[in-house]
Amino acid sequence: MKRLLVIGAGTAGTMVANRLRRSLDPAEWKIVLVDPIETHYYQPGFLFIPFGMYQKSDVVKPKRDFVPAGVEMIKSTADVIEPDQNRVKLAGGRILNYDFLVLATGTQTRPEETPGLQGSEWYRSIFDFYTIEGALALAKHLRTWQGGRLVLNVVENPIKCPVAPLEFIMLADWFFHEQGIRDKVELIYATPLPGAFTKPIASKYLGDILEEKGITVVPDFIVEHVEPEEKKLVHYDETEIGYDLLVTVPLNKGDELMARSGLGDELNYVSVDIHTLLSLEHPNIFTLGDAAALPTSKSGSGAHFAVDVFAENFLRYIDGLEMLPSYDGHTNCFIESGFGKGLLIDFNYEVEPLPGRYPLPGIGPFALLQESEMNHWGKMMFRWMYWNILLKGQELPLPARMSMSGKWHR
Ligand SMILES: Cc1cc2nc3c(=O)[nH]c(=O)nc-3n(C[C@H](O)[C@H](O)[C@H](O)COP(=O)(O)OP(=O)(O)OC[C@H]3O[C@@H](n4cnc5c(N)ncnc54)[C@H](O)[C@@H]3O)c2cc1C
Repeated sequence: MKRLLVIGAGTAGTMVANRLRRSLDPAEWKIVLVDPIETHYYQPGFLFIPFGMYQKSDVVKPKRDFVPAGVEMIKSTADVIEPDQNRVKLAGGRILNYDFLVLATGTQTRPEETPGLQGSEWYRSIFDFYTIEGALALAKHLRTWQGGRLVLNVVENPIKCPVAPLEFIMLADWFFHEQGIRDKVELIYATPLPGAFTKPIASKYLGDILEEKGITVVPDFIVEHVEPEEKKLVHYDETEIGYDLLVTVPLNKGDELMARSGLGDELNYVSVDIHTLLSLEHPNIFTLGDAAALPTSKSGSGAHFAVDVFAENFLRYIDGLEMLPSYDGHTNCFIESGFGKGLLIDFNYEVEPLPGRYPLPGIGPFALLQESEMNHWGKMMFRWMYWNILLKGQELPLPARMSMSGKWHR
């Protein structure tokens, strides 16, 4: 029996286990999935919790519901990978050998790495929404908040779902309108980027929308520390932003497993061939999802397109065929913009988000880089698709590679 070991049963690891269990012969291949946490969180849903649109029950399901028959699930943490010996040590000392290893350990927030963030005011006047705990605590706080200056700060890039902070601040605008206190709330988006988004065309479109909504963008803001008692963010150049309520997107980092195993960069992300996801150093280790160092947005949709490519390539690889360098960094993200509307962006390593229609050229139904109600419904439908299609490794009628059809470009 050959053994395929998958570390991490989140979005990417679960999709891989489902896809490969169907295509690898169970008489020849054993698939083992390792993860210490039994609950699968639908992380895109964390965005809606602070505003009372989703409850905790809307974003959780047991991981086991998505583990196919014939895949062994081990509830444990991978402690160290020993690539030269083709084995992984689990916390507690158990050793798992592998023929092929897939790393899908994602990325996590590290508030403790910014001085002052997790101090006395954590979950009192400072909140995050990238964790279930943070999203729930913020929901509770917003139920009685009377207004003031709300600052949303991204500590450092890259972060998973880089549009989520924009969505948060636009939903906050809508939420405070609904509460009848928008005139008592100042909304500030302090970002280390030079504008609203990473890429210039989308940055212009999104920046204009923020301006129309009366949201102030503070660009190039690189926070050095937070002074929780004085309620201010302090930049490396000593400029300051005061707040009444701070919503932070803390530093994102890959799992320490990568540092312990000598596999990660300074943020614990794993270097791979960006078109095949194969390790640059080890010919039997792939990295999928947020754990990989890729020049595209870390996102569930990117992970999905990468798994599409990987699942086909892996079958070629084990048969001794060359892999097709097919993954092009394709990612798309709905951007909820409040008042029942949203935008959509679709891009890859080479092509930045452009206006147009998706997935059918000229028809859509989704509008690229434009607000529409249809985009909002696309975002809301996505949760159903995630649980029922994507995680189970079913194929969507969407090509893994990005298409220029339907995009308006100069
Ligand atoms: C607020 C928010 C909004 C988002 N919105 C969107 C969106 O609209 N669209 C979109 O496409 N994406 C969105 N995302 C991003 C998306 O959720 C992630 O990019 C996606 O889940 C990445 O999948 P992954 O498998 O790489 O990591 P994850 O799904 O995070 O899974 C990683 C798994 O690895 C496990 N693990 C970690 N370390 C170890 C270890 N040492 N041993 C064993 N197991 C380990 C963890 O327990 C976890 O189960 C959003 C994320 C957030 C936080």
